[in-house]
Amino acid sequence: MMGQQGGRQDQLFYAFRLEEHVPRSHLLRAIDRFFDLAELRQHLAAFYSHTGRPSVDPELMIRMLIIGYCFGIRSERRLCEEVRLNLAYRWFCRLDLDDEIPDHSTFSKNRHGRFRQSDAFRHVFEGVLRSCMREGMVGGEGFAIDASVVKADANRARGVPRSELIEWSKGDGPSRAVLEYLEGLERANPSGEEDSSNAAKNVSPTDPAAQWTAAPGGPAFYAYSTNYLVDLRAGVIVDVEATTALRAQEVAATRTMVDRVEERFDLTPRRLVGDTAYGVAPMLNWMVQEKHIAPHVPVWDKTARKDDTLSAADFDWHEESNEYRCPEGHALRSDWRPFKNPRDHITKADTIVYRSSASDCAHCPTKQRCCPNTPIRKIARSIYESSRDVARALASTAEYARSRRDRKKVEMLFAHLKRILKLDRLRLRGITGAQDEFLLAATAQNLRRMSKWLMPKLESAAA
Ligand code: SF4
Repeated sequence: MMGQQGGRQDQLFYAFRLEEHVPRSHLLRAIDRFFDLAELRQHLAAFYSHTGRPSVDPELMIRMLIIGYCFGIRSERRLCEEVRLNLAYRWFCRLDLDDEIPDHSTFSKNRHGRFRQSDAFRHVFEGVLRSCMREGMVGGEGFAIDASVVKADANRARGVPRSELIEWSKGDGPSRAVLEYLEGLERANPSGEEDSSNAAKNVSPTDPAAQWTAAPGGPAFYAYSTNYLVDLRAGVIVDVEATTALRAQEVAATRTMVDRVEERFDLTPRRLVGDTAYGVAPMLNWMVQEKHIAPHVPVWDKTARKDDTLSAADFDWHEESNEYRCPEGHALRSDWRPFKNPRDHITKADTIVYRSSASDCAHCPTKQRCCPNTPIRKIARSIYESSRDVARALASTAEYARSRRDRKKVEMLFAHLKRILKLDRLRLRGITGAQDEFLLAATAQNLRRMSKWLMPKLESAAA
């Protein structure tokens, strides 16, 4: 017999417990076990006035945002709707069935107001990281560093040359992202003189701090970079930093993050794994000489020649006599005569140039393979060459091969960030907006990681 639903929806009172309607296996249940915001209210107290209209509860805002970033719900309007309708989301937010959900515009105003000033997102990120450390998920032995470009919320067809005068004050006046950018310019260049190096570059009038880049290949667009420092034991993100999408900025973020993690958590890795971009000489020197970290990074080296002539690697370095020896056994020196005032010979590129003697080269049988078009051979040696040699020596070890495999953990985190968390384009503008989004996404990724890593252990212990 065909069944028929009653269709009665007029019952006034129900015996209903939200708790019972959230499946045991729901991701939010696992996350909730490890997500503790007890200290947040205390941290934020100084930023809230004791008088006036009460704001949206900061804990509710953070819980809603964590839901948004865990499940790829990036629109604030949609997030408020989803929390209103989804029982599991209500349960995670500590809301009962008849509790009010904040209006999306109030939510947005609160999110961009006190939260920005209070650094609440970093506070929450670090709280989750501390939980990961307590649970033994952070080894502190090996870290990996990498960056990924994320599109900014800026129309690629609307860019103008930086030199062109932009009427920032048109319409309702400059936006938050524009004000932030102008304040940054003011700080960097108080005299207000135009920076000619930037004059020809493309700038977005809606998000001028976003970088015009074609780095990932394909047509150029406006973007920021998210930089991850990842512990290699369980793939936990130990720090995250937003930068403009420039390689030099990404490399500089490494120092910021390694120093910050050391200062806040007393963690300094024994090895740092990265790609060739991090193998530039000053960076390697910083790792080896200043931080005493083993650089598991390929050396950025452009000295190899492709025209079958001898490369710098074919010359032997003699530290004690401060000279190279060519394959014919002759010396290449930085100075061939004594100077009254000793010089350091360091170039702007932080190298010292070593030259052969014209008399040695004039009748050399190897000249055609060494310097066929010049009377002498020159080799530019980095002042950080000893640190580059440390990295080169490490590259042949078995541990280095393991580090190359470990690096995939960071690549997987970026793939997850874009495919699952759907953070392939930012919704907030300005470097602060990018920082907020990257911090929240990294917090969500660590929470998901923690729940996947620890739940099976907890369940088997309980069985
Ligand atoms: S050309 Fe000069 S530097 Fe090159 S191998 Fe001959 S002597 Fe040495």
